[in-house]
Amino acid sequence: MLRKRVQMRMLVALLVVMTFVSAPLPALAQKTSPVAPSKAQVEAVVREAYEKFKSDTNGKNADYIPYLAQVDSKLFGIAIVTTDNQVLSMGDIDYSFSIQSISKVFSQALAMEEHGPQKVFEKVGSEPTGRAFNSVFAVADMPTHTGNAYVNAGAIATVSLISGATADQKWNKILDFYSRAAGEKLKLIDEVYKSEAATNTGNKALSMLLAKYDRIYADPFESVDVYTKQCSVGVNVAQLARMGATLANNGKNPATGEQVIKSQNIPHILSTMIMAGLYDGSGGWAWHVGLPAKSGVGGGIVAVVPGKGAIAVFAPPLDEAGNSVKAQKVIEYVANRLDFNLFSPRSVGLKGE
Ligand code: GLN
Repeated sequence: MLRKRVQMRMLVALLVVMTFVSAPLPALAQKTSPVAPSKAQVEAVVREAYEKFKSDTNGKNADYIPYLAQVDSKLFGIAIVTTDNQVLSMGDIDYSFSIQSISKVFSQALAMEEHGPQKVFEKVGSEPTGRAFNSVFAVADMPTHTGNAYVNAGAIATVSLISGATADQKWNKILDFYSRAAGEKLKLIDEVYKSEAATNTGNKALSMLLAKYDRIYADPFESVDVYTKQCSVGVNVAQLARMGATLANNGKNPATGEQVIKSQNIPHILSTMIMAGLYDGSGGWAWHVGLPAKSGVGGGIVAVVPGKGAIAVFAPPLDEAGNSVKAQKVIEYVANRLDFNLFSPRSVGLKGE
C-alpha cells in the first residue's frame, strides 16, 4: 500500500517535471548581446572597482536639501542588472536613497508615452545648457528656455505635460510608471519630500520664469510640487539598475517582461542622457566613459549599456556639478575594463590594437 503511494507520488512528480520541461521558454529568457561579457568577468571587475574606490572620500554630500546633508557619506553600493535579468550587487544594497534627478529620465519617458516624442521635443527639447542643473541664466538665455528634460527647469516643464485631473492623479501615475520600470513597488521617502518642499524656492522661481516664456503647461507651483515628490522616490541600487536595464532592454523590464516604454522612444531618452545626464559634467563623462547615464544629488548614478544591461552606483559625496564622485569612478572603471564605451568599436566586438 505504502509502496503504491510512493510510486504514485513519483509518477505525479515526473509528470510535473515533464510539463515544465516541455513548456515554451518564458519571455524572460531573452537573448543577450553576443558581445556581452561573461558573468565571471563582470563579477571580477565589479569587485575590483568596489575595493579600489571604497575608501575614496572625495566630494561632499549635497546640503541645499537639508535631509541629504545628514545621509552617511560612507554608504556605497553597486548593482548590475543585465537584459536577461541577472543581478549582481555589492556593498550597501538595501539602503533606499532618494532618486532625485534620475527620476527625470522616467518622467521624460512617461511624457513620451502620453504625447509621443515629437511633442516632448517641441515642448521641452534636448539641448545641453552647459550650466548648472538649477541655472536661472540658462532659462533666460536658451532659445528653448526649457533646455532639456534633465535640468530642473526642463524637468518641471516635463512634469507639467503629464495629464491628470488633479496633482495627486499625476503623481500616482508617475510613481506607478517608475515602479513598473523598476519591477517593484516604489515609495516616497516622506522626510526627503518634506525637507525639499520646505526649501525649494529656487525651483519655484524657475517655474515662474518658465511661465513668463510660456514654457510650462500646467500650474507652475503644482508642477514643482509633483516634481519634488518624484525626486523623493526611494530606490536601492538594484531597483535603480533594473530601471536602467529596462532602458537597455528596449523598454521591456527584464524581470517582469512588461513593455514599459515604447522601444521607439529609447534612442531619444539615451541621447538626452548622453548630452545632459551629468549636467555640465556631461562632456567630460562622454569623453571618459561614453555611456548614457543619469545622476542625482542623492548620490546615485545609473549608466545604460544598450542591449547588455545597466549599472547603478550609490555613494553620496558629489563633485561641483552635483554628480557622485565614487559612482563616476566605479562606472568609468567598469566600462573601460569591459569595453562598454559606445563610441568604441570594441563595444561591438571589434578588438583593436
Ligand atoms: N530635487 C533636486 C532639485 O530639484 C534634484 C536635483 C538633482 O538631482 N540634480 O534640485
